[in-house]
Amino acid sequence: MPRYAGACHCGTLRFEVEADPVETTSCDCSLCAMRNAVMIQVPQAALRLLAGEDLLATYVWNTGVARHHFCGRCGVYVFHRKRAAPDSFGVNVFCLRDFDPAPLPHRRTDGAGMSLLEARL
Ligand SMILES: [Zn+2]
Repeated sequence: MPRYAGACHCGTLRFEVEADPVETTSCDCSLCAMRNAVMIQVPQAALRLLAGEDLLATYVWNTGVARHHFCGRCGVYVFHRKRAAPDSFGVNVFCLRDFDPAPLPHRRTDGAGMSLLEARL
C-alpha cells in the first residue's frame, strides 16, 4: 500500500496516509465549495497524525457528525471525519507530498443534497 506524507502549509501538522485511491472527490456542500477541496477517502486506521496535535483545530457545523480539521496556525484544511462514513477520513490531496491526483477519475459528490439540520426541525 502506498504511503504518503502529509502536511499543512506551515508544517505544524504532519500526518501520514496509507492509501491506493481509485478516485478523487469534491463536494458541493457550502463548506467544501468554499474551501475548494479535492479529497481522497481513507479508513480511519490509514491516517496517522504525527505532529501538531495541539494545533489541530476542528470546525463542526450542521449535524455535528463531520469534524473538519485544519491547522490552527496557517488555517489550511488537512482532513475531516466524514459525515456519511464516520469511520473514514476525507483527506485534502493537495496536502500530500508526491501524490498526483491527475490520473485518477474525479467524482463530484452531492453534499448540498444531504439534509441540513434545520430542514429536519
Ligand atoms: Zn499549518
